[in-house]
This record gives sequence, C-alpha cells and structure tokens, in this order.
Amino acid sequence: MTTVFRRRTKILATLGPASDGALKMEELLRAGVDLFRLNFSHGSHAEHAARIGAAREAEASVGRPVALLADLQGPKLRVGDLPNGQSEVRMSSELRLRAAASSNDPEIIPIPHPELVASLQLGDRLLIDDGKMMLHVVRVDGEDRIARPVAPGRIMSRKGIAVPNRPIPIPALTEKDIADGKFALSQGVDYIALSFVQRAADLTLAREIFGSQVPLISKIEKPAALDELEAIVALSDAVMVARGDLGVELSPEQVPIAQRRIIRIARAHGKPVIVATHMLESMVEALVPTRAEANDVATAVYQGADAVMLSAESAVGRHPTAAVAIMDRIIRAIETDRDANPSSQASPPPSSDTTADACARAASKLADDLDCPLVVFTRSGSSAQRVSATRPKQPIHALTPSIPTARKLSLVWGVSADIEPDEPRSFDDILDAVSRHEAANHIKRFVITAGYPYASDNSTDTIKVVERK
Ligand code: PEP
Repeated sequence: MTTVFRRRTKILATLGPASDGALKMEELLRAGVDLFRLNFSHGSHAEHAARIGAAREAEASVGRPVALLADLQGPKLRVGDLPNGQSEVRMSSELRLRAAASSNDPEIIPIPHPELVASLQLGDRLLIDDGKMMLHVVRVDGEDRIARPVAPGRIMSRKGIAVPNRPIPIPALTEKDIADGKFALSQGVDYIALSFVQRAADLTLAREIFGSQVPLISKIEKPAALDELEAIVALSDAVMVARGDLGVELSPEQVPIAQRRIIRIARAHGKPVIVATHMLESMVEALVPTRAEANDVATAVYQGADAVMLSAESAVGRHPTAAVAIMDRIIRAIETDRDANPSSQASPPPSSDTTADACARAASKLADDLDCPLVVFTRSGSSAQRVSATRPKQPIHALTPSIPTARKLSLVWGVSADIEPDEPRSFDDILDAVSRHEAANHIKRFVITAGYPYASDNSTDTIKVVERK
C-alpha cells in the first residue's frame, strides 16, 4: 500500500443502496472517504456481508487501509401495534400507556417495554415519532400510566419513543445487537458503534459480550449519557456526536452546546470524535449543499473533530459522490485557513503527564519546529493516536505490521497509515523500515517516535530525528 498525504479531518460515509457495489465504493474512496459505516438498523446479514466484501475489494483497488464501522441499532424504544396502525389524539384525550405488544383500543397505547412503563413518573415527557407527538404523564394508575398530549396529532404503530428527562432501565444491547455485533466481528469489521449509550456500565457490558479488545465507539445521543460523559469517554475507544437522536431528546439550541462539550471532553482524553448526521442533508436531493451546511462541516473542523459523517447523503441520497467531494473541499478549505491552526483549537489536547503523552507532545513540537513529517511506528495504533491528539501541523505517517491497526487509524485525525509486514526485532529494524518508506516518499528529514519494545501498549518513549543526505 502506498501513502498519499491527505487532509487531516476524516470522512466517514454510511453505506446503503445508493453506494452499493465495489466500483461505487471505490469511486467514493477516491472522492475522499476514509472509512465506511454499516448501519445495522437496516438490512439483513446477507446484505451487510455483501457490502463488507465490496468495501474490501474497493479498499484493495485504492491501496490504502479503510476501516469498517458496524453501527448497532441499540435499544430503540418503540410504540407497539395499535388498532388499524394508528391512534388519533385530540387535545382532550387521556391516553393509557400500558406495557403490552398491542392494543385493540386506540386510547390504550401499547408499549412493549415493561421497564419503561414502570419507570415513568408524574410529569415525565414522552416524545413519539422524533418528537412529532409529545405526551405528559399526569397520573399513575396501577401498572398503567395516564398521559395527556401537548397538542393534538396521531400516534402510529412502531414509531420511536424518547424519554429525555431520565435514564431508562433497559439493557444497553438487545438480542439483535448482540447477534449483529458478533456477525459483524466475524466479518472483520474494525469498530462497533453502540447506540443509545446511557452509562459507563454499558461499555463494560459490551466488552464482556464482544471481547475486551474490540474497538468500541459510544454514540452520544441520550441526555443521560451527557451526565456521565467523562466516564463514558474514558471507557470508549472513540465517541460519536449522534445529532439525529440527540436532536430529538434535546431542544435544538442545546445540540451545539452538547457537540462542543463532547468534542472538548473526547479531545481532552485523546479519543477520536466523530460529528454525525444532517451535515449535508439537503444533498440527499440537491447537487449542492446549503451554505449553512457548509458552515456546519466547517464548525466541526474548527472544533477539532477527528471525523465528519455522511448518513442518508451517501446511503440513500441521489448524489453520494458529490456529497463526499464537497465535504472534502470544505474540510481542505478550512484546514488551510490560517485561523484554523490545529494546535490552537478551542478543544485542548490531553494534558496527561505520562511518559507516552509527554513524548507524543515533544515529537509533535519537534516536527513542527523542524517543519518535517512525523513518523510513528506502532503496533496497536496507540502511539499514532497519542501523537494525533496533540494536533501537530505536520503530517503524521503511521507504519504498522498490523492490518487491523492500519485500518483503525483511518478514523484518526491527520494519520495516514501503511503496512510494514516485517516484525522489527530491534530499534534499528524500526529505523530501517521507516527510512525505506520515507525514501520511497522522497522525504529526507523526519521525526520518528515509537515505543520500544514497540509491541507493548502505552510505551511511546523514543524520539529520533532522521536526516538523509
Ligand atoms: C444519529 O442519531 O445521529 C445517528 C448517527 O444514529 P442513527 O443514524 O442510527 O439514527
């Protein structure tokens, strides 16, 4: 695989019917996609297996490592089955919320989640169908809850329910999530994204189920997760600002505040952070984005996000390649804006005093002072991630003997990764391998950093400046 230095903020594109087939995926990668998302809220395992196979073919064609992220549906709460599929709600309606799969009475709203109904208390607010219908709990009646609408409307079967003001005592992973996650891992995906994470314990549970080493991304889309954000970020490998569902549970003016805070905390922990959903939404139909959308992508870049995400635009939109191309252009424009000095972002890097973090900071400073690239030899990817977290101005080139590590790094800000198949036996072996790669890229001077022995985690402890004649 050969390295081409590219923009620093990465593009994550969701796969779907609009982006199916190895050729289309190759086109998207050439337009600027760094990694792909598979959305397990839709599609059968056979469909996902076909997408994964096509994505790996496209990855081989473009010759650079590409991560695949399996986004699990999570415990999405839904209304049960109503008579004739819906219930007309008048302003004067008193609705009975009941733990049941279905109901024959339009005034009894079935909710197939007994834990949710039992946890509802007087004054709780329920948002149904992305907030189109809002109910208030006005009374507890035995096992049922009585609720009144805020405005007249219609409740339809199977629509989503959100309860913004309280954590819901439901398991973080459904049986479907467990089956999907195990399937995705058996197909070689690189990240598992957990939806509707509410508490740090959800991560512990996911690691018990999927294995302690599985790279986990916490989607922050519940207000409860914002209350435990530090602990969730600390236990996650990366986080996503999942603004679609977050925007249902929070009022619109709170979403930008949450975005900024999530980025800041993820950056302070040195964890990659993705800003997702509605970034170029109008491009589902239109060939150009609105200027407000361009500004939204720019804001994420200025704030120091590692990646920005396309959802419907690339999964079901009419112009997936154009959406990627414009996202690429916007990011490049912002990254070359002289006000966007990455090391002076509003979101500061980790201030930890470990040897590894101090070495990463020193190596970045050295590369910036000498105005030369930074090369990281890494097995797990953690040294490269640590260096990226300092947001150097210089390109970061990661060399690794591990294909999964090279793929995983496609999410990480500023890092381009190459495979070095030979396992080094000494630091001289590392120097030889790095020098060979940099010579191939016509680089004469570079800063190298690594942990030695390199295979041990958390051990970035060596920095060397290499100058070739
Ligand atoms: C979101 O809600 O913003 C999100 C990324 O999740 P999904 O696309 O699964 O709704």
